[in-house]
Amino acid sequence: MPKALVLNATYEPLCVVSARRAVVLVLGEKAEMVRHDDRVLRSQYLTVPQPSVIRLRDFVKVPRRRRISPSRRAVFLRDEHTCQYCGSKAENIDHVIPRSKGGLHIWENVVASCRRCNGNKENRTPQEAGLRLRAKPKAPLPQTLIAALVGSMHPHWSEFLAV
Ligand SMILES: [Zn+2]
Repeated sequence: MPKALVLNATYEPLCVVSARRAVVLVLGEKAEMVRHDDRVLRSQYLTVPQPSVIRLRDFVKVPRRRRISPSRRAVFLRDEHTCQYCGSKAENIDHVIPRSKGGLHIWENVVASCRRCNGNKENRTPQEAGLRLRAKPKAPLPQTLIAALVGSMHPHWSEFLAV
């Protein structure tokens, strides 16, 4: 199913909806079409270009520090499927400070890791296990999150997701 990126009135990316849902928003004058594909969507009464990016007419207030919990898929995308300790192919998600020691499931505390590093580390901190993180983990860019949520990126979206 084709998807459309939804922008706030301020052009801030908000979410991704189905192209059909985007058409409903545009026809209901809740949103305007910003980009569309060459394809069209047909209904009983009309034919409209298939939206790829729409913008809400009214500003929607979103909490400033809206946090999305790290999913396995998003962590792998952020870390490019690379073990953040040794650089080999990652198969596991590792909590840097183990959950048993109060480590939280937040972006700053989760990394992709290979089975070997994850196994060696067990319930220890990297320091205790003699492992070193290649980079400090942080919340991913919006485009990584959106790609993780929808599985792929429409080429029209990148200019609105660039940070
Ligand atoms: Zn490793």
